[in-house]
Amino acid sequence: MTPKKPPVRPGETITLEIHGNSHTGDGVGRFEGFTVFVPQTVSGERVRARITKVKKSYAHARLTERLKESPDRVEPPCPVFERCGGCQLQHVAYPAQLKMKRQQVADSFQRIGGMTGVTIHPVIGMEEPRNYRNKAQVPFGWRKGRVAAGFYAAGSHEIVDIEDCLIQQSENDQAVQTVKKMVEQLKIPPYDEKSHKGILRHVMVRTGVNTGEVMVVLVTNGSRLPNRGKLVKALREEIPGLASVIQNIHPRRTNVVLGRENRLLWGQPAIHDLIGDVRFAISPHSFFQVNPSQTEVLYQQVKKYAALSGEETVIDAYCGIGTIALYLAGDAAEVYGVESVAQAVEDARHNAELNGIRHTVFESGAAEEVMPRWAEEGIRPDVIVVDPPRKGCALELLDAVVEMGPDRLVYVSCNPATLARDAAYLSERNYRTEEVQPVDMFPHTSHVETITLLQRQTL
Ligand code: SAH
Repeated sequence: MTPKKPPVRPGETITLEIHGNSHTGDGVGRFEGFTVFVPQTVSGERVRARITKVKKSYAHARLTERLKESPDRVEPPCPVFERCGGCQLQHVAYPAQLKMKRQQVADSFQRIGGMTGVTIHPVIGMEEPRNYRNKAQVPFGWRKGRVAAGFYAAGSHEIVDIEDCLIQQSENDQAVQTVKKMVEQLKIPPYDEKSHKGILRHVMVRTGVNTGEVMVVLVTNGSRLPNRGKLVKALREEIPGLASVIQNIHPRRTNVVLGRENRLLWGQPAIHDLIGDVRFAISPHSFFQVNPSQTEVLYQQVKKYAALSGEETVIDAYCGIGTIALYLAGDAAEVYGVESVAQAVEDARHNAELNGIRHTVFESGAAEEVMPRWAEEGIRPDVIVVDPPRKGCALELLDAVVEMGPDRLVYVSCNPATLARDAAYLSERNYRTEEVQPVDMFPHTSHVETITLLQRQTL
């Protein structure tokens, strides 16, 4: 079949109905049968939109006029929503955001997994869906001869100032503003991407919400940081809870935020936070869930599905710094964790020690290599938890799960598409998908997080 010629061209303005949403939160409509994505629209709306990009089977367009509005549409609470790109759903009322996310999970199971009748619970949202992020990463640069700190304007490398981010904890915003004020006063030049000159590239702030400890990471273009003593002194005076100031040295030309080398300028090399009553050390490079109150909801749900009595052997695959493993350890006989980032595994071991937890083993390596080896060595867990990145689990890992034959598999996923694919694979291998609980970890963004319980069927 010769592919039909797209019925639209860049620059053209069309009228269309929006009937759904993509996984990135864009509204989806059809124009003469051709799929068109329009950001910042809502299902049920009729809009005018200007085509920006045309591909073989779909096009992107920019909203120009709303002819019919959805009752779920709200005024975006953040004034820079349209330019920033950090959030995708601020124009949708929060209860409707939650419904959209649940629908996305249902669609994935049906379309990708070919599975109908899976129980998908309503999404557990936040009571106050704002100021939740415990980590800020803010680029610094020049704008009209002054220091700017905020975000890159969409499609450009210009930094737009932002003082108060809707989804960021206000302590983090304030800490960034303090750094901004001080680097202006102390004449520490921000980095200029084009010329690769200047010093301060990014400021990262992390907060341990349950301990009040704050970490400031100054990412610099090379090891030079003039006036560092004065800067640290000012930050200590002005940032409540400051526990750690780190210089991250990052001389390379790349978009990656952090360089490899950390230099402790003042305080501790890591801050701490609690999930439940387990204590974690968080260093600049550690992966740690960014929404602490919902992390606890997420892990409680994992614990519920794991249904531990204290006798079980548990595996936590893709364990990061050991958060789930250690959260479950109090209810298990032994817990194995596997994670590919060696530093995270060291953190996990350190975190076990910090909490006096002895019956955990953390191994560094690819889960899809370590798990088959564990299966060969005869490790027979009762419960396996997996929490893979967006691409989901490798087949070797799923095969190892089947071989080990745990009663329950608890699948934590940040991508419904790969979750549905993996659940379908397992459903043909004696693991039935019992229920799915989505938890909103990232209000106002298009991200969807779920916990799924799969049970081994007794023959
Ligand atoms: N469960 C943890 C981390 C989840 S994020 C938490 O809740 O905090 C997913 C983790 O998988 C990351 O730490 C990433 O480094 C790790 N990872 C990615 N690919 C992997 C692989 N092939 N094998 C093992 N770990 C992997």
